[in-house]
Amino acid sequence: EGKKSLNFIEAFVESDLAAGKNGKRIQTRFPPEPNGYLHIGHAKAICLDFGIAERYNGICNLRFDDTNPVKEDVEYVDSIMEDIKWLGFHWENVYYASDYFPQLWDFAVRLIKEGKAYVDEQSAEIIAQQKGTPTQPGTNSPFRDRPVEESLDLFNRMNQGDFEEGSMVLRAKIDMASSNMHFRDPIIYRIIKHPHHRTGTAWKAYPMYDFAHGESDYFEGVTHSLCTLEFEVHRPLYDYFIDLLKKDDDYRPRQIEFNRLNLTYTVMSKRKLLQLVKEGRVNGWDDPRMPTICGFRRRGFTPSSIRSFINKIGYTKYDGIIDVALLEHAVREDLNATAPRVSAVLDPVKLIITNYPEGKVEMMEAINNPEDLTQGSHEIAFSRELFIEREDFMEDAPKKFFRMTPGQEVRLKNAYIVKCTGCKKNESGEIEEIYAEYDELTKSGMPESNRKVKGTLHWVSAEHSLPAEVRLYDRLFTVENPSEDKEKDFLELLNPDSLKVLTNCRVEAELQHAKPYDNFQFQRLGYFNVDPDSNSEKIVFNRTVSLKDTWSK
Ligand code: ATP
Ligand code: MG
Ligand code: MG
Repeated sequence: EGKKSLNFIEAFVESDLAAGKNGKRIQTRFPPEPNGYLHIGHAKAICLDFGIAERYNGICNLRFDDTNPVKEDVEYVDSIMEDIKWLGFHWENVYYASDYFPQLWDFAVRLIKEGKAYVDEQSAEIIAQQKGTPTQPGTNSPFRDRPVEESLDLFNRMNQGDFEEGSMVLRAKIDMASSNMHFRDPIIYRIIKHPHHRTGTAWKAYPMYDFAHGESDYFEGVTHSLCTLEFEVHRPLYDYFIDLLKKDDDYRPRQIEFNRLNLTYTVMSKRKLLQLVKEGRVNGWDDPRMPTICGFRRRGFTPSSIRSFINKIGYTKYDGIIDVALLEHAVREDLNATAPRVSAVLDPVKLIITNYPEGKVEMMEAINNPEDLTQGSHEIAFSRELFIEREDFMEDAPKKFFRMTPGQEVRLKNAYIVKCTGCKKNESGEIEEIYAEYDELTKSGMPESNRKVKGTLHWVSAEHSLPAEVRLYDRLFTVENPSEDKEKDFLELLNPDSLKVLTNCRVEAELQHAKPYDNFQFQRLGYFNVDPDSNSEKIVFNRTVSLKDTWSK
C-alpha cells in the first residue's frame, strides 16, 4: 500500500505543500446538498475529501450545501451524517451554506454597488434565450445598465417577499460575449418563497450554486475543493468570484475535478432515486437493491468493502461506468475473511436417516471460518430428521450428479457420510421425504470420514433449526446503463424480478443470537446478513452476494 503511486489529486496537493502554499495547510470539505440520501457515488467523493485530509494531516469539514429550500430536509441531513460515520470518516466541523447567507448577501450588495451586478426583471426563459451560443455572443438584458440604486432597492424587496418567484433575479454583470457561457451574466440570486429547513422564512432571495460554493470554500479556509468533472466549466467563475471577494492575502481555495462514479445496472441521480422511493418501486431509500449507502448497509455490505472498492477504481479525468461485479468482488473478499460459516436451507425437503436412533441428538463441531481459525468453532445439532435443499436431490439423476440420489453416498458437512435409499412422493409427484442410512464410522474427524465421496451437502436438523425468511436480490435494472437509453424512461427498464422472497427457510439454531446487520456465509449459498425486519417469530436475511465471483480483470 505504501508504494501505491499518487493519484493526480494527491500529486497536486503535494506540489502545493512543496511550494508552501496556504501556509502548508490542507483543508477539504464534503459538500452534500441535503436533498436525498447518499449513494455509492458520494462514497467516492467522501473517500477522497476525508482521505486527502487524513493523509496530509489536514482537516475535512462536512458542509451542507443547503441553498435550495424546496428540495431540502433535516431527514436528509441526519441520514448523511449517519452514513459518513458508518463509512468510517470523521469531520472536523459541520457547516451549512445557509450560515453564510448574511455574508453572501453583503457580497452581492457590494457587487451591485460596484456596478458588477444588477436586478433583471425578465423571465428565466428569456434570459436563457439571450445567452447566445458558444459561437455567437449573447444579447444584453434591457435591465443591464439600470441605476445602482434601483437594483439595490429591488434586491432588498426581492428578499422581503414583495415579488413573485420567477419575476426577477440578480445577475452578475460580467461579459455577454465570453467564450465561457457561464460568464454571460450568470444568475446569482433568485426568489424562493418555500421555507428553509434551518432559516425558516427569514430569506426569500437565495444564492445560486455558483455564487455560494466558492465563497463558502473561501469563508471556511478550504485549500482544495474537490468536485466532479461537470464543474470543470464552472471553475473560471468559481475563481472570478473568489478574486473579487479575496482580501490581499495569498490564500485561495483551489477547485480540482475528478470523474463521477457510475455503476452498471443502476442509476445514481438523486432525482431518479427519489422517484423510485416516492412511487413505491422500491421499499424506501434503504431498500437493499438501492445504490444508496444505507441500501448497501442493509444489504450486508461492510464499510471496508466499499472503501476497498473505491480504492480499486481510483480517480481520473474521464467519465466511465464501473462494473458492479467489482463492488461485489470487494464485499466477497471482505466477508470471506470475516463472516462466520453457518448452515441454512432455503428450499427445505425432509431427509430421514432411517438407521439413526430416534430422539438422539449429537452436537457436531462446525469451524466458523476456515480462512481464519482464530474465529473458533460452534456446535450444530444433528438428529434423525434433517432438512436439505430440494435441489440437492434427484430421483433419476444423470451420471454427473454428485448430490443425493438413491444408491449414492454423499457427505453431510461436519457430520456423517450417508447413502440414499429412496424417497416418498405425494399424488402430484412432489418429493415429500427422502430416506438415507448413515455410516457411524464416518463421523467427521474419524478416519473413515476421509472415504472418497464426490458430494458434500449442507443440512440443518428439522427439530433444532429455526424458521427464517430469506430475500434474494437481483439487479434493479435489466440493462447495464439505464440512463443511456434515450427512447425509454428509466422506469421501463426496471427488473421485475429484482426481489424474490423465500418464506419457508430453515437456519441452524446458532443464528438465534444473530443481531440485525450481522454477516454470515451460508455454506454453499453465499453471504447473507440479518435484516432489521427480523422479529421473535422469524429471522429475516438478505442475500448480500452469492458465492460465485463474476468479476474478471
Ligand atoms: P445528484 O446529481 O445525484 O443530485 P449531486 O452531485 O448534486 O448529485 P451533491 O449532494 O451535490 O449531489 O454531491 C455532494 C458531493 O458528492 C459533490 O462534491 C459531488 O461532486 C459528489 N458526487 C455526487 N455524485 C457523485 C458521483 N456519482 N461520483 C463521485 N462524486 C459524486
Ligand atoms: Mg444535485
Ligand atoms: Mg450538487
